[in-house]
Amino acid sequence: MSIKDNLDLIKTNIEAACSKCGRNPDDVLILAVTKTRSAAEINEAISLGITDIGENRVQELMSKYDDVVKNVRWHIIGHLQSNKVKYIADKVCMIHSVESLKLASEINRQCEKIGKVMDILIEVNSGEENKDGIDPDEVYSLIEAIIPMKNICIKGLMTMAPLGASEEKLRMVFSALRNLSLDILSRGYKNVSMQYLSMGMSDDYAVAVEEGSTIIRPGRSLFNVN
Ligand SMILES: *Cc1c(COP(=O)(O)O)cnc(C)c1O
Repeated sequence: MSIKDNLDLIKTNIEAACSKCGRNPDDVLILAVTKTRSAAEINEAISLGITDIGENRVQELMSKYDDVVKNVRWHIIGHLQSNKVKYIADKVCMIHSVESLKLASEINRQCEKIGKVMDILIEVNSGEENKDGIDPDEVYSLIEAIIPMKNICIKGLMTMAPLGASEEKLRMVFSALRNLSLDILSRGYKNVSMQYLSMGMSDDYAVAVEEGSTIIRPGRSLFNVN
């Protein structure tokens, strides 16, 4: 199938998931995950209406950046080393994978230099075998430590479900992230919004949408990779 067919199918599936739970499909952003994809493929996706793209490695983002058309928003979605923040601070609109105070401090420092406020999501660990993200009970202290940082704005949470999880397990993981976001909201932290729940990839985005995802991150299912 073409990228266009794949995108149409993803949209159809989002609509079906939304109608099941009374959500508006316009509230779900399709963040195209472009790791291992060429600039030409990325540009094709953008020509079809994709507005936001996600890379998980700084080096790969840098190598494609100049060849991708400019009217798109870049996101970092994967593990980010503090010493690489300086390369992408001016290029990305959101970092989904903030999981330590050290990383947040470096994002704040680099963004202060260029006069920018970076939107970030806190990555929460949901899986036994997946080491990325912090444990749910550590999220509060990380948020409280980030709040005073003037060049960072916390906009929500991100997670990756365990690979190959059953639908029941997926629902548990995604609803737990949503409940965590609601609990954070209820604490009334200043300048912290829970506007974004970044959850759902190629194999599980429909369940994620049913459980409240506002950013899905399909890669293979959009670009025909198995
Ligand atoms: C690779 C990746 C995705 C996309 O995964 P697919 O299975 O290709 O849809 C989404 N989120 C993150 C963090 C990734 O690294």
